[in-house]
Parts: sequence; structure tokens; C-alpha cells
Amino acid sequence: MATIIDGKELAKKIRTNLKVECDELKAKGINPKLAVIMVGDNPASKVYVRNKSKACDEIGIEYEEFLLDENITQQELNDLIKKLNDEKEVNGILLQSPLPNHLNINQAFKTISYRKDVDGFTPSSVGKLAIGEDTFISCTPHGVIKMLEEYNIDVEGKEVVILGRSNIVGRPLIQCCLAKNATVTVCHSKTKNIEKHTKRADILISAIGKAKFVTKDMVKEGAVVIDVGINRTEEGKLVGDVDFENVEKVASYITPVPGGVGPMTVAMLMNNVIKAAIEQNNEKSTF
Ligand code: NAP
Repeated sequence: MATIIDGKELAKKIRTNLKVECDELKAKGINPKLAVIMVGDNPASKVYVRNKSKACDEIGIEYEEFLLDENITQQELNDLIKKLNDEKEVNGILLQSPLPNHLNINQAFKTISYRKDVDGFTPSSVGKLAIGEDTFISCTPHGVIKMLEEYNIDVEGKEVVILGRSNIVGRPLIQCCLAKNATVTVCHSKTKNIEKHTKRADILISAIGKAKFVTKDMVKEGAVVIDVGINRTEEGKLVGDVDFENVEKVASYITPVPGGVGPMTVAMLMNNVIKAAIEQNNEKSTF
């Protein structure tokens, strides 16, 4: 039976440490602040945003929400981002996705100052990650790497197979794993014979958004299995991409859903806000 990687517990530990850091910053007159922009009325986004606001409260990070009408123009959205870029009190800017179809999310991301890009989605952050420079790392991939580190799972020289190549999970994960000297394979919807790849994996990370896609016969005995997926079954139950009950019988380590990668994502966002506050108040920063 696999060891369960407890993301909830680990995220709690990270948030506790961040609270100490945040208190220290406040004692120096630095008040870390996150601004969150949400456009329209997406129920899932509301839940994500509420979780982020709760985490900020717990740590002592100031939090301001901008709820924009779904008919807002690109210009109006970009103007708000520019205004927040210029506000000294705001350390981090987060634009909650998805946006309504008439808005171009990449254009909006490009408008966010890389110094406040706590989600790590701007071309500048993505580029810096790719060339190995210090930057904000997208929160979910960062959370995955942190989990592996905390459980002393060595990535160097390992065959890492990533399912999914999205800009927010799969692609940054490739860079994070390469930086740790893994041999990385990326699979996507056009990959043929996917199990041929997954069966080779020492570390298998799934981020595709398909309930119970990864079955026991796709996993090598003793593999580490990280499940990023969040899916709802017809009965409304939250499940990952991995058939947990069966895969845990062959894996050495496995993350549950819920309680795995999800809480780590929010913790790494908080980590990035504190990092932003430190960098923006460091006169010698070249970040
Ligand atoms: P996405 O943008 O929809 O990307 C999905 C990726 O999976 C794409 O690269 C797609 O391939 C690939 N894919 C889809 N069906 C596939 C199949 N049958 N075989 C192989 N690859 C397939 O999704 P995302 O935003 O990365 O999110 C992925 C999952 O992670 C979702 O369930 C999401 O809810 C979850 N998520 C969780 C967290 C967290 O904090 N735990 C954070 C973010 C996302 P193509 O590129 O070829 O289309």
C-alpha cells in the first residue's frame, strides 16, 4: 500500500511558517497585500477566490477583491491592472480565470507587472523559469515540487511523466522537473499509447481533468503518483484523475483528492505574496 502524501497537513505547516514571516514583516512596517480580480459570476471561481481570501486572513495578508461586471472591456480590465501595478501597497495581483470569451486572458496577463505576478503566469515569469532564473513559479506546479521535497522524494535522474501540457500546470511542471534533473516526458490529448509512457514513470503526475483516467494497469509498481486533477462525478463527489482505490495498491506514494495538491496550490500562492512583499521592499533586489 502506498504512503498517502498529506497535502492538507503540509499546506497547514507552510501557512503557519508564513504567518511568522508575515508578522515579522509587519513589525518592520511592511504589510503584504494581495489584490484579486474576478470577472463575471463563475461559481467555481467564487469558491477558489473564497479559499484564497480565507488563507490571506489566516496569515495576516491584506486582501482586496475586485469583482468586475462580465461585460467589462479589455481596455477597462487592463486599466485596472495597470492601476494596481502602480499602487505601492499592492504586492501581488491575481487575475482569476476563466474570463468571459470576449476577453483575451494572455493580453491581461501581459499587463501584470512581473514583480507582482504571484500566479507566475506572465510571459516574463514563464521565460525566467525556463532559463532557470529566480521568479514566481506557478502555484500548482510549485506545490507539487514542494510536496516531493517534503517527502524526500528525489527527482534527479528519475523518469517523470506528466499528463497534460496546459500553461498553468503541465508546462511549468516540465521546467520545474528539468531544473531538478529529471528525465521528463509530457503526454497530451494527441499522445498515442499513453500507457506505454505512464508505465515507464518513476514519478507520474496527472493534470488532465478526466475522472479516474489513470488506472492501476497504467502505473509501474512502486511509482510515485501525483494527482492534480479535480473532477466531479455525476453524484457530485470530488475525484482526481487517478483511480485512487486501485492505484494506491501499486504506488509507493500517492496524493489524494481532495486533500492533496489542492491545498498546496493556495499555500504556494501565499508564499508568493510574502516573497513579493519582501522583494518589493528590498532596495538591493534585482528580481
Ligand atoms: P486544461 O487547460 O484543460 O489542460 C488539460 C490538458 O490535459 C491538456 O494539455 C490536454 O491535452 C490534456 N488532456 C486532455 N484529455 C487528455 C487525454 N485523454 N489524454 C491525455 N491528455 C489529455 O486543464 P488544466 O487547467 O491544466 O487542469 C487540469 C486538471 O487539473 C483539471 O482537473 C483542473 O481542475 C485541475 N487543476 C487543479 C489544480 C489544483 O490546485 N489541484 C490547479 C489547476 C488545475 P491538449 O493540450 O492536447 O488539449
